[in-house]
Amino acid sequence: MANRRIGMISGDGIGPEISAEVRRILSAAGFDPEWVELEAGQPALDRGLPAMPEETIQAIRELGIALKGPTATPIGKGHVSANVALRKALDLFANVRPSITIPNLKGHFEDTKIDLIIVRENTEDLYAGIEFQPHKDIAQAIKVITRPGCKRIFKYAFEMVKAQGRKRITAVHKANIMKLTDGMFLEEFYLMANEYPDIIADDIIVDNCCMQLVTRPEQFDVLVTENLYGDIVSDLCAGLVGGLGLAPGANIGEHYAVFEAVHGSAPDIAGKGIANPTALLLSAVLLLRHIGEHEKATSISNAVLKVLGDGKIMTGDLGGTATTREYGDAVIAALAS
Ligand code: ATP
Repeated sequence: MANRRIGMISGDGIGPEISAEVRRILSAAGFDPEWVELEAGQPALDRGLPAMPEETIQAIRELGIALKGPTATPIGKGHVSANVALRKALDLFANVRPSITIPNLKGHFEDTKIDLIIVRENTEDLYAGIEFQPHKDIAQAIKVITRPGCKRIFKYAFEMVKAQGRKRITAVHKANIMKLTDGMFLEEFYLMANEYPDIIADDIIVDNCCMQLVTRPEQFDVLVTENLYGDIVSDLCAGLVGGLGLAPGANIGEHYAVFEAVHGSAPDIAGKGIANPTALLLSAVLLLRHIGEHEKATSISNAVLKVLGDGKIMTGDLGGTATTREYGDAVIAALAS
């Protein structure tokens, strides 16, 4: 294990502080790989490089796997998001985001058992980056949905449902309005469903899905959706179970995997030592499961559940006063108990 090499992008904003804390907790749990530091986000921009430098992408190609802290995307012209660049370059086509109720954590849905996973297609849709301005008063973006893109995300999603022993998968779309793009997405979904007769497959229109999620979220098991709907719906789901500070994510491709929190770089609280490292820590738990380190993954997630369930040592986003470090200390103490 000592010579396992994993890429580590600390990122910017709160990235460096939560990354350091997560590495400290992983080490306390007995996971000490060789972390290969890789640059992206503001530190790269400051050196005149793109937000996701080619050398970082190449390093992940060689390592195969990375843990990534948040990187801010400057709004407006000339900046390609580091995340979008990475997903495209490594063809990380599946973005997997679990949302699970944390027992005893206070919140709007504290008495509701939410245990759902969003599988978001990560490379197509309006994120294809095809935007142009044919006239000074008209700006256009092109939504791209391809049949091979649909097939591989559905294959991945149905296989994931099967492997995890889940029961149901729901396609989220707007095919009543976008009859060709979302229509193709839906058509391919049901074609794939035919190959998995033991899994319940159904679909829901995205606006109704949002309404159902904030009224009866417990009804959902796995949601599979396009890139833009997935972005929005997964933030909504993060909010259902305690907020962005707790929501982990995995970007999976055929050859590479990059694990990162759903949240951004939170510049409003950066450098204060008060950010919640849980989302990145739970992303690291997904990484551990991906490489077969299930025991360590379970012991870390149990420690997190214990600390959050006790409710005594929590960061500001969850209504507490603990610093990032104090929270990390509590998780490390819970590892041993
Ligand atoms: P981006 O455009 O980079 O995705 P965003 O605009 O979605 O960023 P975030 O950076 O995710 O925004 O932050 C949204 C809000 O949630 C901010 O007020 C931020 O402080 C808070 N937040 C996000 N992550 C955390 C965290 N780990 N701990 C505490 N608060 C957080």
